Amino acid sequence: MNTDTPLLTVEDLTTTFETDAGLLIAVDGIDFEVHEGETVCIVGESGSGKTVASESITQLIPSPPGSVDGTVQFKGRDVVSMSESELREIRGQQIAHIFQNPQDALNHCYTIGWQIIEAVQVHEDISDEAARERAVDLLTRVGIANAAARLDDYPHEFSGGQKQRVMIAMALITDPALLIADEPTTALDVTVQAKILRLLNDLQDEFGMGVLFVTHDLGVVAEIADQVVVMYAGKVMERGDVYEIFETPSHPYTRALIECLPGGNRSGDGIEGTLPDPTNPPDGCRFAPRCEHAVAKCTHGGQPALFSIDAADHRVSCVHYGHGGDPSVVTSEDGDQAQSDGGAADD
Ligand code: SF4
Repeated sequence: MNTDTPLLTVEDLTTTFETDAGLLIAVDGIDFEVHEGETVCIVGESGSGKTVASESITQLIPSPPGSVDGTVQFKGRDVVSMSESELREIRGQQIAHIFQNPQDALNHCYTIGWQIIEAVQVHEDISDEAARERAVDLLTRVGIANAAARLDDYPHEFSGGQKQRVMIAMALITDPALLIADEPTTALDVTVQAKILRLLNDLQDEFGMGVLFVTHDLGVVAEIADQVVVMYAGKVMERGDVYEIFETPSHPYTRALIECLPGGNRSGDGIEGTLPDPTNPPDGCRFAPRCEHAVAKCTHGGQPALFSIDAADHRVSCVHYGHGGDPSVVTSEDGDQAQSDGGAADD
């Protein structure tokens, strides 16, 4: 557990949307921290609320229909209560975002150089020549070969991996303290993905920034994370140091995600069932309808509190932990036996 003052502290973050079907609770009271130089991965299936959570941090959620509550402290300042002008100052300067599809963020009518130079000059009062030099330096830093000549190329002349490198270069213009990267490698093939992850890791070492990385891919988490936040249906199911999460995964959902990795028991099959309706979530544990270890008390009383199961602040939201719970039920090698034992003990 990192004891330094966090760069980012998120407490009880809740994001809802007014919809025709009723109030949709996308993120429901989540907590986590990011420290300087640390990579925190939010991981979960599509629809778990991880992207909404990451976009709520800098208030990118349109309101209405969205509404963000809770506490987001960045360098000790409360972001949720900031005015639009204060938010603009934070966004893109101290906190930068990288998104999944770089082609959506780049304007195909302008050269890459024009777009980087314009972004540089929005933040710095420098001449065209100095901004061009800065653009060459940024592209070189993110591994674009022959950067000076490539400035005159258009986005369609860059590959998917190169376009993502350009977006990373643009995110670094202001030397941000925190980089929020939402599935930045998902659209890329595995080899390019590995190169981009290495690049982010190198840049983090160089710039010392904190990184909040959103992904559905536990394989990526294993590569880059220091801390892991496992989200399901808007709630945090498990949270902890990456080694704890992979060596002693304790929530049935985390275990199921790990079993879906290549070579795992569920590889190729996925987790049976679907996420609950976010306008009408289950009364008890959100994962209960898909959980092979569920017992009667999992179906009422809300999501179990996150209980700290070891000194490293490894926390789990499951009835089998905490006071009166029986962790052996879900840490048993024999899933079926564990389930029936758990039912007998709890009911
Ligand atoms: S609380 Fe119950 S349903 Fe939820 S993960 Fe634990 S055992 Fe499964």
